[in-house]
Amino acid sequence: MTLTPEQLADIAAERAETRTTLRATAPGMEAHLYTAYPVLDHGLVRVIDYMGDDNAITQAARVSYGRGTKAVSDDRGLIRYLMRHWHSTPFEMCEIKLHVKLPVFVARQWIRHRTANVNEYSARYSILDREFYIPAPEQLAAQSKVNNQGRGQLLEGAEAARVLDLLREDAMRAYDHYEDMLTPDETTGKMGLARELARMNLPANVYTQWYWKVDLHNLFHFLRLRADAHAQYEIRVYAEEICKIVKDWVPLAYSAFEDYRLGAVGLSASGVAVLKRRLAGETVTQETSGMSKGEWREFTAEWG
Ligand SMILES: Cc1cc2nc3c(=O)[nH]c(=O)nc-3n(C[C@H](O)[C@H](O)[C@H](O)COP(=O)(O)OP(=O)(O)OC[C@H]3O[C@@H](n4cnc5c(N)ncnc54)[C@H](O)[C@@H]3O)c2cc1C
Repeated sequence: MTLTPEQLADIAAERAETRTTLRATAPGMEAHLYTAYPVLDHGLVRVIDYMGDDNAITQAARVSYGRGTKAVSDDRGLIRYLMRHWHSTPFEMCEIKLHVKLPVFVARQWIRHRTANVNEYSARYSILDREFYIPAPEQLAAQSKVNNQGRGQLLEGAEAARVLDLLREDAMRAYDHYEDMLTPDETTGKMGLARELARMNLPANVYTQWYWKVDLHNLFHFLRLRADAHAQYEIRVYAEEICKIVKDWVPLAYSAFEDYRLGAVGLSASGVAVLKRRLAGETVTQETSGMSKGEWREFTAEWG
């Protein structure tokens, strides 16, 4: 990630100015506000604004007049109870607004999370920067043999070098053509193509930016799916960076989320039945389990 001196000065100015407020603030989040955290080669995540803290969750759950806190241990117990029993609306009382810079192919996955508010950088109005995601060598891998939606063995040597060359060359050539199409030339009468059309030849690894606002319940849903080991690496690294921020913002809620969602394992009714049979001493195989091969593979990966 490279920020211009002007962008760095804007962030420093935001962080230098303090304001007084009657509203609740979260000290852990104040430490993160406005700071740009690098993700991938040119991407970033930074918090622009937020509302609420752990207390806002318990306050809403109790519908109390004041802060309503009896003790931190009570709040912790209540938040864990709410998370455990999918009582989700109190978590919607907290919100976060992020500035994210990300490759377009990652944005396509991200935008599927519809329960957020988004405003994207306009490539009709502005010219996109010459910034493309080029994977680090340790991310260049072949198609997985066991997972149709994943990568497997690392590419090596000449093949890895050739892939990187192709990615760089294609990106640079496309951007050169983009610039060429945009640029008017009075000497030849060339008018230059409109930005909204010239952008269409840019590849999916070009970077875009947006502001993304979401409540904590839906953010947890996003993080559950995208910080998971099955999510594509290029979106997972953003989710992992956001996890660190959320942990400092709402430590009690994040700890409950880690326990009941992120680190939890789902168990189907047939899975429960197999576990009970095993605990009773029976040897259960895929054939006698009532599960498909895929289900059995996932079940035994968790339970042995
Ligand atoms: C590993 C992985 C692989 C994926 N592969 C594919 C793929 O191959 N192809 C593909 O198209 N997508 C794919 N997706 C995207 C996935 O199907 C979801 O679109 C995405 O994860 C957003 O989830 P969501 O709809 O629950 O989230 P949100 O849009 O944030 O919605 C949250 C919840 O609100 C409710 N909701 C929101 N909008 C509606 C609505 N209009 N109607 C009814 N209920 C609504 C639902 O309960 C939903 O779960 C993949 C996602 C993951 C994590």
